[in-house]
Amino acid sequence: MEGEREKERENNGASSATCCVVGLDSTTNISYIACSSCEKPLHTQHNPSSTPALCCSFCKSSSFKRFYRVVMSVASGNKVMVVICFDKAARVMFGCSADEFFDFAKVNPFAVVTAGQILEGEMFGMKLSMPRSGNAEHLRATSVVPLHSGFQPVIQTLKKMYRVKHR
Ligand SMILES: [Zn+2]
Repeated sequence: MEGEREKERENNGASSATCCVVGLDSTTNISYIACSSCEKPLHTQHNPSSTPALCCSFCKSSSFKRFYRVVMSVASGNKVMVVICFDKAARVMFGCSADEFFDFAKVNPFAVVTAGQILEGEMFGMKLSMPRSGNAEHLRATSVVPLHSGFQPVIQTLKKMYRVKHR
């Protein structure tokens, strides 16, 4: 039931578009820490990389994980627009969890910039919807499907580039 309603809400006002990635905004964080049970973002002003020894102010859970929030410019038809890819969509592009990518980026400082270069020019079928809250200004990509048959998730390409050995 819950899943059905969620689907309905996503389809409401959503449009599908073929989008070509123009660039990824690597100046803002591509992920954030949130409560792993209610998914409410945790506000850590000072040191977001430290493990928060806190509990969620909404549900009192003490487990947190990272979720993607990737801001990117895409071209569709003859216009360029800014879209936000949240966790489900971004996982398709990155091929791993936000936590895994964050850990990878910690030891490979240019990983986010390089991820942007890898995604540049990549074509995706995106389902775009208007933000639910009135003060959010960007479209959000609720689902992403790679259109290039040889598409490799970002993390795979990065690992090859940085020659990470699988153990
Ligand atoms: Zn919570």
